[in-house]
Amino acid sequence: MFDVLVIGAGHAGCEAATAAARRGARVGLLSLAPDNAGQMSCNPSIGGVGKGHLARELDVFDGLMARAADCAAIHRRMLNRSKGPAVWGPRVQADRKLYRQAIGALLRESGVEMIVAEAFALILDGEQLAGVTTSVGDLRSRSVVITTGTFLDAHMYVGTEIVAGGRCDERASERLAAQIREIGLGQGRLKTGTPPRLDGRTIDWARIAPQPSDREAWQMSALDEGVRSPQLACGITRTNERTHEIIRAGFDRSPLFAGAIEGRGPRYCPSIEDKVKRFGDRDGHQIFLEPEGLDDVLVYPNGISTSLPADVQRDFVRSIAGLERAEIVRPGYAVEYEFVDPRRLNATLEVAEIPGLFLAGQINGTTGYEEAAAQGLAAGLNAAAHACVLDRVRFDRRTSYIGVMIDDLTLHGVSEPYRMMTARAEYRLSLRADNATARLGAAALAAGCVSNRRRAAITRRLSDGATGEEAEADRLYAPYVDRQQREWEAVRRDANAWIPAGFDYAGVPGLSNEMVERLSAARPETLDQASRIHGVTPAALSALYVATAQRA
Ligand code: FAD
Repeated sequence: MFDVLVIGAGHAGCEAATAAARRGARVGLLSLAPDNAGQMSCNPSIGGVGKGHLARELDVFDGLMARAADCAAIHRRMLNRSKGPAVWGPRVQADRKLYRQAIGALLRESGVEMIVAEAFALILDGEQLAGVTTSVGDLRSRSVVITTGTFLDAHMYVGTEIVAGGRCDERASERLAAQIREIGLGQGRLKTGTPPRLDGRTIDWARIAPQPSDREAWQMSALDEGVRSPQLACGITRTNERTHEIIRAGFDRSPLFAGAIEGRGPRYCPSIEDKVKRFGDRDGHQIFLEPEGLDDVLVYPNGISTSLPADVQRDFVRSIAGLERAEIVRPGYAVEYEFVDPRRLNATLEVAEIPGLFLAGQINGTTGYEEAAAQGLAAGLNAAAHACVLDRVRFDRRTSYIGVMIDDLTLHGVSEPYRMMTARAEYRLSLRADNATARLGAAALAAGCVSNRRRAAITRRLSDGATGEEAEADRLYAPYVDRQQREWEAVRRDANAWIPAGFDYAGVPGLSNEMVERLSAARPETLDQASRIHGVTPAALSALYVATAQRA
């Protein structure tokens, strides 16, 4: 009998399983293949703006992601350096193989039992959860965490070719998808895509602008594991008018435009055909050429995710400076999959109607490794709490991006893949990537899920106070944090304040395109009405309050 069974060894599953094990639970982790734990389905990188914040927060609870990223880092870049430290985004380009190996090693140390099997169905007696039926038999457990990512009844698309599968060369999860639909949890379909992989030996690097790694070898994790790999340069090139012509000529064979794919894709990570269609006036789009590993010839062209037919992919790639002779090793593709309405979950990511059943990761309508991993942590800590009668762990949006995400998902739901951005957090001036230990250290200690080494580091930080860059940023932001607090209190007090007719939402500083679209479509008359529009975040309300107060 397991305390916790986790279905799927992706980013959410590995964090969920190890988090539950760190709280003392007996954990089984089901994986479709023996070596795919921690597989990066798309871009070989961890972190970035908002995402780096999540990785640092996970790290405070002894999560795996930041430590594995440090072991695999072959290029580091602190994004947004030219802006204030609140929105700096630590981003690591990871050697794909080293990252998987690092996750594998951390899993082996954790005491989690790996089980190579497909989960077919939950064992339910009414609403009572008893375990999972798998391809190796029935497994009993008190809690179950489902983290099946892009695999539920998934189809992959390259032009007019459609095959069942959740990721290149991996089958879809169909039986579990059928049960999820049957018990009324399925909400609909979403899609995401990946670019073609190039053979780096066929790229003319002399024509590509190099982007070196940061000189300072900063670490993603607060615990420096001392691993230092050689750092490689990435490269930057661009699409051009000719590229766009070739892409336009392929529109009629695009599954996106020909109607084969119904699910919505990630707004902030659109395919190149989407970009060409939506932003027809642009003369080019930037492409980052990112090496996939130290001893790997593959290069990931970040920015040209596509599901156009393979011949169109080859032609448009070869129209790009430096890629005239580039060989495509594997064409890009899109994947469409089922997801669950996250409003069915409570703040611990437990399905409200089925105690003991937790869902985390892309299944909840998010996109990205960090979003998945952070939910995995929350679900794993709470699945252990359910099974072993421990305190639940809830994340607050005032103190963490994890809290912002869970709040947004479970209260507002999703209509398109949800990605973390600093604009989603109204308290972003105090939720910095550099102060995650100060914000969450006490909660991590209380959850009883950290190693002795981590405990010592947290205790040191909590009793020494901030030093260096963190202390400087605290001083820099103190007056703004105070003002922000007063503004937020005013939003709540002045909920009936009027928004002028014809108000220009696009002119409000700090409102994301997504918020501008939602508000412009709904045209609320008061802040109170705005607060009730599906998907409008507290951060957007705060920005709106300031803008309307200034114009009043
Ligand atoms: P996954 O990493 O998908 O892991 C799910 C795991 O569950 C897999 O190991 C699978 O084998 C296992 N599994 C599934 N069903 C079963 C079962 N029945 N029994 C046992 N095991 C099972 N994210 C971005 O941020 N930007 C992008 O551009 C982007 N592009 C993507 C393109 C593609 C083609 C794909 C596939 C994904 C892309 N992603 C992108 C998404 C990113 O890969 C996910 O956000 C992230 O991997 C989600 O993590 P997860 O743990 O939820 O699921």
